[in-house]
Amino acid sequence: MSEYSNSEQWFEVIKSKEYLYVIRERLDEIDPRFYTTYINLYLIVGSHSALLIDTGCGLFPLKPIITDLVLDKELKVINTHSHFDHIGGNHEFDEVYIHYEEMKSLSTSFDITFLQDSPKEIVKRYENINFTIPPTNEIKSLKNEEIIDLGDFTVKVIHTPGHSSGSISLLTNKNELFTGDTAHYGMMYLEKKDFPIILSSISKLLELYHDNEDIELYPSHEEFAVDKKLLVVLCNGIKNIENLWETRIRDNFLEAWIIDDGNLKYAIF
Ligand SMILES: [Zn+2]
Ligand SMILES: [Zn+2]
Repeated sequence: MSEYSNSEQWFEVIKSKEYLYVIRERLDEIDPRFYTTYINLYLIVGSHSALLIDTGCGLFPLKPIITDLVLDKELKVINTHSHFDHIGGNHEFDEVYIHYEEMKSLSTSFDITFLQDSPKEIVKRYENINFTIPPTNEIKSLKNEEIIDLGDFTVKVIHTPGHSSGSISLLTNKNELFTGDTAHYGMMYLEKKDFPIILSSISKLLELYHDNEDIELYPSHEEFAVDKKLLVVLCNGIKNIENLWETRIRDNFLEAWIIDDGNLKYAIF
């Protein structure tokens, strides 16, 4: 029997700051074949509104957890991009914002039958939804440089394509930068043809440090509240992949090449 039988057991809620919660799920408990331990969802609570960044895997209901933290404030829900581990709980909310380039992906159900043969028993819970993530109720668009007002502070949308075409990062005026899957420790998923695009997105994020050295990074996977070094290591790592190409190992589940440079791992498609 699994040790997880309800949302309270499944989601780990960490109060990182007075106004910032990290809500964690264990991706490795769903399927270890992604080489990823954590999915980080973030909830920023402003004076009149709250912002939920991503909705996770959809394995257990998320909304009750969020409602308990947001109380009577207005809630806005955003996806950093449209991969299944970021949009699983979208259908629990009335509307969800995403960069306009990925709006279409939310309008239909998302097939997750690739999880059926996971070695983890808990994926059987997905039988309730026939291994499909339901479509999003109302899909709203976001664009680069858009500002989201939460009352006592603001959050800026930064388009950072590369991991996916509509990937965004979000910068608060209190120096937190939410990077989605554009930059995180652990296993980075990238298409080789998109290396120039991801490199320019990482440069864009590094440029933010010219105005402000105090930015802290909150990625959607693995460690959070990490510093600029992540972006530097990632930028150098991607540039170095060609030199390590002979060391690649084929992964048949991911249908990708795996490269480990000692700092980060890469799944390259
Ligand atoms: Zn992703
Ligand atoms: Zn992800």
